[in-house]
Amino acid sequence: MLTIFDKINIKKFETFFNDEEKCLAFLAEEKWQDGYVCKHCGHTRYCSGKTPYARRCTKCKHEESATAHTMFHRCKIHLPDAFRLAHIVCNSPSISTAELSETLDLRQMTCWKFKKKVTQCIENRKDMSAAGKVELKEIILGLPVSEKEL
Ligand SMILES: [Zn+2]
Repeated sequence: MLTIFDKINIKKFETFFNDEEKCLAFLAEEKWQDGYVCKHCGHTRYCSGKTPYARRCTKCKHEESATAHTMFHRCKIHLPDAFRLAHIVCNSPSISTAELSETLDLRQMTCWKFKKKVTQCIENRKDMSAAGKVELKEIILGLPVSEKEL
């Protein structure tokens, strides 16, 4: 599994995350790398949920999707595009939404909204890391503070 996103060139990145399932598989693997714990009851046994890579608690039946608690939660963009956008923003934080919109063939407003989320995640992580270096892998699991409080 790829660990350091920002060292991967965009071509390789696109081949790797070229479909929704691969993105979900990656998120699930990252999210539950230390093992699954139900967010509701703390149980650690699960079965598969309704959506790909979702996990359902065998005790309380609470289901958690692969995107829940990641910055891709409730993301309206097709996941591979969202991954690309995040990758680009990590590598070139000053890129304009107009450029993103053109590169990814997405509406500028869509790019603006998701870029804001990615940037917020990067900022959050910078507070935490003394090195100041941010890798997409790290920020993927970080949510903007405002959403955590919801
Ligand atoms: Zn549970």
